[in-house]
Amino acid sequence: MNYVDNLSYKIMPTQNFQIVRGCAGCGSKQNFLNREHFRVNANGNRLDVWLIFGCEKCGHTYNLPIYERVNPGKIPKKDYERFLSNDKELAFQIGVTKRMFSKNKAEIAKESITYELIEMQKSNMESAGDCLEIILYNPYDIPVRNEKIVAEILHVTRAEAKRKLAEGKVIVRQEK
Ligand SMILES: [Zn+2]
Repeated sequence: MNYVDNLSYKIMPTQNFQIVRGCAGCGSKQNFLNREHFRVNANGNRLDVWLIFGCEKCGHTYNLPIYERVNPGKIPKKDYERFLSNDKELAFQIGVTKRMFSKNKAEIAKESITYELIEMQKSNMESAGDCLEIILYNPYDIPVRNEKIVAEILHVTRAEAKRKLAEGKVIVRQEK
């Protein structure tokens, strides 16, 4: 008989992603930090909204487009107010959404991607399961290797985690 134990975790970003780009101020590649600040510009019947990033060395800014030339009616009123008040929570929500960066061809600084694992449901670890299945919900599509996740969750070395995965003792299923 085969027993499978289940563990469910959610992987969540813990800090704003940074952007790597050539800085016109420094004249070299730098990391740009999320300033938790929005710029809203009305032009006729069109609105632009940017999230402001600043070079960590010289403060030179880069505006990440959130909305470009949209009809104001397209922006939810609640969001619009949050843009105007520089809502930190919204700046974070956008600041950890990869799609916002990729659609603007902004390169995320890999080292700025940090995360935490939040346990969602645990089966009885004392049970005699032959196999452990880890379901990892990854709504922000954080790039992470299965062996690293296994090592962190089971408190084993990366090598040990790799072996368990190779032997099929542990299975990781990543879901969006
Ligand atoms: Zn700079």
